[in-house]
Amino acid sequence: MMKFEPSRRAVLASAGALAAATTFDLPAGPSPAQAQGAPVNQAPGFYRYKIGDVTLTAINDGFGKRPLEGFVKNAELADVKKAMEQAFLPADALNITFTTLAIESAGKLTLIDTGNGDSGAPTSGTWMANFKAAGFDPKNVSTVVFSHFHGDHINGFRLKDGSTVFPNAEVMVPAAEWAFWMDDAKMSAAPEGMKGAFAGVRRVFSPIAKDVKQFEGGKEILPGLTAIAAPGHTPGHTTFALSSGAGKLMIMSDTTNHPALFVRNPDWSAVFDMDGPQAAATRRKLLDMVSADKMQVAFYHAPFPATGYIAKAGNGFEMVPVQWSAAI
Ligand SMILES: [Zn+2]
Repeated sequence: MMKFEPSRRAVLASAGALAAATTFDLPAGPSPAQAQGAPVNQAPGFYRYKIGDVTLTAINDGFGKRPLEGFVKNAELADVKKAMEQAFLPADALNITFTTLAIESAGKLTLIDTGNGDSGAPTSGTWMANFKAAGFDPKNVSTVVFSHFHGDHINGFRLKDGSTVFPNAEVMVPAAEWAFWMDDAKMSAAPEGMKGAFAGVRRVFSPIAKDVKQFEGGKEILPGLTAIAAPGHTPGHTTFALSSGAGKLMIMSDTTNHPALFVRNPDWSAVFDMDGPQAAATRRKLLDMVSADKMQVAFYHAPFPATGYIAKAGNGFEMVPVQWSAAI
């Protein structure tokens, strides 16, 4: 301890000198921010980027706080906390963020997933404000494509009062997802804790059931957008390969939850993965592919703007975010 004392003192001394110099330059009294009441909001949560000729806009829907206890089904809590610490994240709870994508291509506006609407945590539900701040109008959405039917992805499509949010949009869903969640026998056989999820799916989709367009994995469902079956997280969970000219983006949906845990440890399964081993196999396969191909990726639950690249690291991978750009 003793031998660190002089250098610590030196650091404090120089910090003191810096503080003194800084104070000298500042006017006395409260800062402008304090005078106005401390602001808490960021700039609107949208971020545009290009893949070939296609413009993507990442649109944030806030976050939900999740205790770490019981969050990873097949890892010790101590190991999960260690992974959080290694990523400089809090070791008690995880802020799970939500980021959807708007795709502008050939004069059409397509959404991949819709956020929580007014059904999520109080810290979520900022999607519409961010969507409008990005210059979009819900009436102009031509297509809504869903990756899977968990509430944080579908509830933004219909408000709690039953009103529809995108009146002119065609709705496209994975056929395997529809088959599972709309099956009455599966709903009756489901454990009590899952019945709410079935009811939520019906709340959103039953009024438009006859108009919903179902798609299979391996098919180009819109120009340049190919669905890829990625089961495990849910039975019909789907990722999407977007391709335009030389540009490619893998829209990973919920192939992983927070990258600091599940890109780093692809064999770990979050409590939301309905079939843990299948989700882990899908995750490894896709992460291997995008890292080998150096393909840009977008995740629903990665830190905003939730896009970057995947590099191999240790027994797993790491996500390298894109550099923020002031212009697309
Ligand atoms: Zn999700």
